[in-house]
Amino acid sequence: MDKKTVRDVTWAGKTALVRVDFNVPMKDGVITDDTRIRAALPTIQYLTEQGAKVVLMSHLGRPKGERNEKYSLRPVATHLSELLKGTRVLFADDCVGEDAETVAKGLAPSEVLLLENLRYHAEEEKNDKAFAQALSRLGDVYVNDAFGTAHRAHASTAGVAAYLPAVAGFLMEKEIGIMGDALANPAKPFVAIIGGAKVSDKIGVLENLLPKVDALLIGGGMANTFLAAEGYQMADSLVETEALDTAQTLLAEAGNKGTQLLLPTDLVFADKFAADATYQTTDLEHLPSSGMALDIGPKTIARYTEVIESAKTVVWNGPMGVFEMPAFAEGTLAVAEAMAKVDGVTIVGGGDSVAAIEQANLGNRMTHVSTGGGASLEFLEGKSLPGVIALQSK
Ligand code: AMP
Repeated sequence: MDKKTVRDVTWAGKTALVRVDFNVPMKDGVITDDTRIRAALPTIQYLTEQGAKVVLMSHLGRPKGERNEKYSLRPVATHLSELLKGTRVLFADDCVGEDAETVAKGLAPSEVLLLENLRYHAEEEKNDKAFAQALSRLGDVYVNDAFGTAHRAHASTAGVAAYLPAVAGFLMEKEIGIMGDALANPAKPFVAIIGGAKVSDKIGVLENLLPKVDALLIGGGMANTFLAAEGYQMADSLVETEALDTAQTLLAEAGNKGTQLLLPTDLVFADKFAADATYQTTDLEHLPSSGMALDIGPKTIARYTEVIESAKTVVWNGPMGVFEMPAFAEGTLAVAEAMAKVDGVTIVGGGDSVAAIEQANLGNRMTHVSTGGGASLEFLEGKSLPGVIALQSK
């Protein structure tokens, strides 16, 4: 990683203005999953240990530029103070303005202040200059540790870097370091597994990965579009007619380059899109004339497992089937288990694949489980993320 990090700053006496991703799921003011808060702890703890004053800023949900108690970060401040035992955690009712500035200035070294939801101000998402400047008054050095929003050019993720020296936090460093290395210099064989609903959502990822990988395994709804492009009649399956050309082009490209682009050879066909559907496993040669493919079949699972287990680098984005319904989760869970057996680097990115890994309780068996859905997708597309570009180079 060629960006400066929190390690490149002398912190004593300075205030760190840190963009974190505390956009956690909440129900009735109670945090239901604190993974994102925990993911930011290494950076916060490092800064407090170095004697910095720490001002944290985040968004939560989509309050659309208006104050709305439902999206208040106050419960997060309470939770954070429980996680950071022994550290005083304060909360400011607004993320900009005199009150926030007074509290920030009054912090003692190693104290933490969490600001109220950035998105109470419409200027945040507009990357408004005056708003970014107002944020910058709350610190001496800007730290971006919010990989999950690094693909957005907002005031707190990019704009503020125009007014303060800007460095990466540990989570940001880890995310872009591990994924960057895997893409730039992968140990071979390099295998990518791409699934999810639509080809159109993943064209960028497929195009970027195809020239880099030894094998590309396709599953999920998007596999139907590839199979349809090969001439199979997919009955009522999710097929994107507008993406058939793209699928054909990608198949031809893989053929020309000698890259293995693997499609399912059997499927689980259901009579309806429902958890209690009647279903059967079917080969491509015997596809039913009605019903829909909702998962990859056992032969496909066996083949994909074999390819995954012999890889040295594996990147996975997108489920192999409608894994939210237990009857159609087998393909996705099998991929998760195969990845856990890999003797090499394993990276999982994207909200649904991460949920599947957690469902299978295999998170700690992966090299890296990305905290950012959209951001990791854009990273896999080979795009430069605005939140990363804004950081100072070493
Ligand atoms: P994505 O957000 O593009 O990664 O897509 C994830 C969604 O794709 C999940 O909600 C899955 O239920 C859905 N999905 C996976 N396989 C299929 C399929 N064969 N047919 C319809 N939807 C699918």
